[in-house]
Amino acid sequence: MKRLDGKVAVITGGASGIGLGTVLRLVEDGASVVVADVNYEAAQQVVEDITKDGGQAIAVKVDVSVEAEVKDMIEAAVKTYGRLDILHNNAAWGPINDKEIPDMDVEMWDRVMGINLRGPMLGCKYAIPEMIKIGGGTIINTASANGKVGDYERTAYSASKAGLMSLTRSVATQHGKDNIRCNSILPGLILTPATKRKFSKELMELMEEGNLLPSIGGPEDIAALVSFLVSDEGKYITGQEINCDGGVLVRAGAGA
Ligand code: NAD
Repeated sequence: MKRLDGKVAVITGGASGIGLGTVLRLVEDGASVVVADVNYEAAQQVVEDITKDGGQAIAVKVDVSVEAEVKDMIEAAVKTYGRLDILHNNAAWGPINDKEIPDMDVEMWDRVMGINLRGPMLGCKYAIPEMIKIGGGTIINTASANGKVGDYERTAYSASKAGLMSLTRSVATQHGKDNIRCNSILPGLILTPATKRKFSKELMELMEEGNLLPSIGGPEDIAALVSFLVSDEGKYITGQEINCDGGVLVRAGAGA
């Protein structure tokens, strides 16, 4: 018997990086998964690889900022597998340098909020009723260490992640009695296609120096935490912000 046998999980941004790490880990744990991503071709490729190895997975094209598409994503999970136990709101977007506030590009701000904050809210909006139907479920929101500290350059992104932590606490508060748990995970620097693409070598080295541990984390580190939290081993944990960051927030004096 595997940890997540019989469970059904939707992972947004599941075609790359941290989302892909979660997809692969939950499949290994026995779950059936929906790989939901705006990059449908990449999601299909992930599903092809999983099903070749005997895992259960489908690909869904979604822009998480669009309500109708998020509704369809949740419906696809329930139509295909008959239930929904786990939602990982993980897709996000944000420029590496969005300028200081007097020069803020307001359209960019709205886009960041649409994907990083409205997206997870929409996921919760459509997932919660399905979870209530089966007596409970778990939701993980990928926030960020950026959501806990002031930032010189990632104003919109950091604000969206702080908002996401607040959303997490509200979901946990409103639906704890429905046996729905909701937690935020706060990655520090994790090596993914996004960080390799966006961060210069110098910035990576600077961030690595900020860690208490000697190496940079990978998607598998976040996936291991998700696997624990969504399993019965995490059944008394809700409304929390859990740092998985090599200790960088402790170093910054914001570990609590
Ligand atoms: P990534 O770019 O490797 O993967 C992100 C995935 O999300 C991609 O497959 C992309 O196609 C998809 N996506 C983007 N916009 C979307 C949308 N509107 N709708 C649906 N899918 C969309 O990124 P990553 O580094 O794996 O980041 C994943 C999550 O982890 C994000 O929430 C990010 O903010 C958070 N995070 C990452 C790090 C890090 O160091 N990598 C640190 C802190 C937080």
